[in-house]
Amino acid sequence: MIDWKRIDTVLLDMDGTLLDLNFDNHFWKEFVPLRFAEKHGISIALAKQQLEPRFKSMEGKLEWYCLDYWSEVLQLNIAGLKVEIAELIAVLPHVTEFLEKIHQSPKKVLLVTNAHRDSLALKMEKTCLQPFFDDIISSHDLGMPKEHADFWLYLQHRQPYEKSTTLLIDDSPAVLNSARQFGIEHLISVSRPDTKLPKKEVTDYPAIEDFRELMSGL
Ligand SMILES: [Mg+2]
Repeated sequence: MIDWKRIDTVLLDMDGTLLDLNFDNHFWKEFVPLRFAEKHGISIALAKQQLEPRFKSMEGKLEWYCLDYWSEVLQLNIAGLKVEIAELIAVLPHVTEFLEKIHQSPKKVLLVTNAHRDSLALKMEKTCLQPFFDDIISSHDLGMPKEHADFWLYLQHRQPYEKSTTLLIDDSPAVLNSARQFGIEHLISVSRPDTKLPKKEVTDYPAIEDFRELMSGL
């Protein structure tokens, strides 16, 4: 699937790529509606109904990933709520062995995420993956979500990389599209971002179900 000899920089997404998206899905689809319902004395079904279009309208925007934004508009302590269910944070199967192997290679390995710094800190604390990366970049630091092609240019200013020898692995089609538009040559998707959901059909990009598929030749 990938000729590792041609790759010198690896950009890795966090949620749904290295970490089980079940945490985030459960958090936004179940736990936030539950607490929102409790706060307003309404049913969970009604809370979901009210929240869904509000979440939908912010998709792909930096605010969507901003805990402060949601804390403000929903009047809930979003960062605090994440801590309450932090035991659901989990590394996807075979990710650690992949990271161990790539860490031993001379390749530059960057974690590149839309996650807010508070969320990122909680997840690194829970998973202990931090030492595997040469740098960790949150799109909030660059002021632009990964869904914008300009994000990849700003990233080059922070961590120089060659488009032709860089591989991005990300479960989001919108993010892969923006990277492709910018010119990053090697793009791989993830077909099983949430272990509690069935495998996704990925058509536009080569996709891995788990990281064992990328271990050979590394
Ligand atoms: Mg993701």
